[in-house]
Amino acid sequence: MIDWEGPLTAAYERATRYLNELPERRVGPRATAGELHDALGGPLPTDPTDPLEVIADLADGVDGGLLPSGSGRFFGFVFGGATPASLAADWLTSTWDQNAGLYAASPAAAVVEDVTARWLVELFGLPGGTSVGFVTGAQMANFTALAAARHEVLRNAGWDVERDGLIGAPPIRVLAGAERHDTIDRALRFLGLGTNCIVPVAVDEQGRMLTDALAEALRDDAAWRGTRGGGVIPTIVCAQVGNVNTGAFDPVRTICDLAHQHQAWVHVDGAFGLWASVSQQLSPLLDGIELADSWATDAHKWLNVPYDSGIVLCAHPEAHRAAMSIRAAYLIQDEAGERDPLDYNPEFSRRARGIPVYAAVRALGRTGIAEIVDRCHAMANRFADALRADGVEVLNEVVLNQVLVRFGDDDAVTRRVVAEVQDEGTCWMSGTTWHGKAAMRISVTNWTTGPDDIDRSAETILKIFRKVS
Ligand SMILES: *Cc1c(COP(=O)(O)O)cnc(C)c1O
Repeated sequence: MIDWEGPLTAAYERATRYLNELPERRVGPRATAGELHDALGGPLPTDPTDPLEVIADLADGVDGGLLPSGSGRFFGFVFGGATPASLAADWLTSTWDQNAGLYAASPAAAVVEDVTARWLVELFGLPGGTSVGFVTGAQMANFTALAAARHEVLRNAGWDVERDGLIGAPPIRVLAGAERHDTIDRALRFLGLGTNCIVPVAVDEQGRMLTDALAEALRDDAAWRGTRGGGVIPTIVCAQVGNVNTGAFDPVRTICDLAHQHQAWVHVDGAFGLWASVSQQLSPLLDGIELADSWATDAHKWLNVPYDSGIVLCAHPEAHRAAMSIRAAYLIQDEAGERDPLDYNPEFSRRARGIPVYAAVRALGRTGIAEIVDRCHAMANRFADALRADGVEVLNEVVLNQVLVRFGDDDAVTRRVVAEVQDEGTCWMSGTTWHGKAAMRISVTNWTTGPDDIDRSAETILKIFRKVS
């Protein structure tokens, strides 16, 4: 008999120990790269090793190099932790080891994703019939949505991009806020559009797209028209809900109204900000969100599902499928109209990553998700207030979960505070640059973060700031 219990029990014990220690664990790695190489490296194994020994050595070896992003005092980047239901479901997803590409390859995975897709569309208040794909993150959600957009704007110009590619195609312009996330540019590179297709649209001091500038850019199409004469220029507008630094929201309703007057496709990058639509208090920030043509978001950020888990949503399922679908003769496509997940994401074989999302949404429910979003928002404000009270400059309007702070109006001081806070271990946050100035970015995205976490962290930061200055 194969010994499953041994390695799985060892993994279970390591896992629960890690999770139970998380609230008091030092928030930051302890080991250097050299120490990690020493602990984990060595020559290619020639002979087998007992799985129990592998698991024990692995868990010991990585321990000092783990960034405890599941801690309630982890405020780095825009990361989330994992809720018990989503983590447990993620374990089972690995255990069942389903290939979620086709209905025929896993009826269970296909149906769970179909159910979860409908839940998410309703949760975000998007049009019924919106199609959904489960991808690795917002990077791939942006890629997939922009592939659907590329299909549709070229189809409207009489061009079949899936068949004929981009060589000789009418040029596409992409109007995107100057403070868009870098993954938009990268997605456009992957799509063969290149970054030169981007027309940056001016933003305000919070990073919100200026609609006058968008209206102007939409009208100003002479450079794209070239010798084409009349007709519509294939145009995609990329809006953003939740700027990665400030948390600011583009005015989506006006953007959609303007863009649609020019038959442009509107894609919204809502990697974390889309979740604010679940909160009664914050949903006005997303006014008009249902008017867009596609949306990208993450489950591994604010929903606190384990990595990796992103979601792409599209109001035009035919465009979504046209961009992603594959029809090879040997594939058993489901006749009865059941969902073949690979019609909605760029992978072929893949993990059934809708299952942990299903468990997360079911365990929290609409009110539970709203509670996390509202609490993170309140905790971000508590953080900003505590720092501001002691003379720290808060650079942004804390509209969501992001706080940008700067120390002594000085780049060097700010960078030193960030480095020393990371070193001290009470909490962890990353540095960033905002409008050419160094800043500390605080992102409150963890489902466990409470007032004590904020107060302890603010106290630590202020102590370090006094020491540095
Ligand atoms: C995090 C983020 C992304 C990229 O998401 P991944 O999950 O890392 O692929 C894109 N856009 C915004 C606004 C983000 O915050």
